Amino acid sequence: MNTKNPAVQMMLDVLHNKGDRTLSVQIAPAVRVSIGEYLGFETGTNLVQEMIGALKQMGFDYVFDTNFGADLTVIEEAFELVERLKKHKLLPMFTTCCPSWYMFVERLYPDLIPYLSTVKSPQAILASLVKTFFSQSINVGKGKMFHAVVAPCAMKKEEAKRQELWVLGDEPNIDLVLTTKEFVELLNELSIDLHNVAKADFDNPLGLSSGAGAIFGTTGGVMEATLRTAYYYYTGKDLEDFELLEVRNSGLKKEGKIDFAGIELNVCTVNSLEEAKPILEEIRATGTCKYQFIEVMNCPLGCIGGVGQWTTDREVLLKRREAIFKYDKEHKYQAAHQNQYIRDLYDKYIGVVGSAKAHELMHTHYTDKSSDKAEEFSCKFPKQE
Ligand code: SF4
Repeated sequence: MNTKNPAVQMMLDVLHNKGDRTLSVQIAPAVRVSIGEYLGFETGTNLVQEMIGALKQMGFDYVFDTNFGADLTVIEEAFELVERLKKHKLLPMFTTCCPSWYMFVERLYPDLIPYLSTVKSPQAILASLVKTFFSQSINVGKGKMFHAVVAPCAMKKEEAKRQELWVLGDEPNIDLVLTTKEFVELLNELSIDLHNVAKADFDNPLGLSSGAGAIFGTTGGVMEATLRTAYYYYTGKDLEDFELLEVRNSGLKKEGKIDFAGIELNVCTVNSLEEAKPILEEIRATGTCKYQFIEVMNCPLGCIGGVGQWTTDREVLLKRREAIFKYDKEHKYQAAHQNQYIRDLYDKYIGVVGSAKAHELMHTHYTDKSSDKAEEFSCKFPKQE
């Protein structure tokens, strides 16, 4: 069986020559609401159970939800935000789950690295837990767990290469990233039709996530999910309404104000690296700006507009976005701190939020990469349409 795409070919080779390896995979939130368009389903159809069923049919032993990693990102990042707010330190705090953004800062604004949250992306956190906690729990040793990701974006391949994110020394947390397009190619190579596949559910304990994890797939989602839990940390109470429309951004930039138990939090979500530049320049010049919390993503409407998919047509993106918010609204839990599997994981393995163990597994660092050649730098970034 031959194919021109190297990632698809590698995946086929692994599936056909599994040996004594255990195969696991995680699915990003944006992919499940975009893949159907290319397979004859109505735009925005959530096909996560079909995707899990297909991956099981291919031979994967475990299928996990990147949204579970998103819940972990929220738990740590909300704590980090509240700490910074209480200490009036390193504000604004920048959040993201977009490697294009932090690679941009490392190269063009390295002096502003301290303003970035240190918490890993959902993809990176979940992979860290798969290669440590989960592998240990099923007695799979180093080098014997092959972990793949299905993601909306080729930049997630760049993220997977970052040694700053690895937790097993010289072994990557993620062995292969397939974009949505590549996953469809894999389905075609294996003649698997999502219309006819047996549906399945994620494997636990890294499979049950909240609605907050799902909204990472679109702009403002990382911030909204984090604020739901940060409010709980700050006040000891849940928000009356988890849906924070002030941060839902369908344009390039949106400002909002959140009532944080008497304190007015100024927030901003940005959907373009260019659009973030004036804010960065202001912080560089003055050491601060009018916002306390800022989310930056590279693509239109966030990862649902990622270039690992076929289209960035706005009407299509809005339908994908609607599907994500519908899933969140109908979810039993809309905040990461309500997720019992997350609580159990902290009790049994991680310990306390923000602890040394939490940092070892779920935080990262950024470095000054301003000496990277400009041409190498620019070709890494997907273009906005
Ligand atoms: Fe960033 Fe776009 Fe990739 Fe999402 S899809 S990680 S916004 S470059």
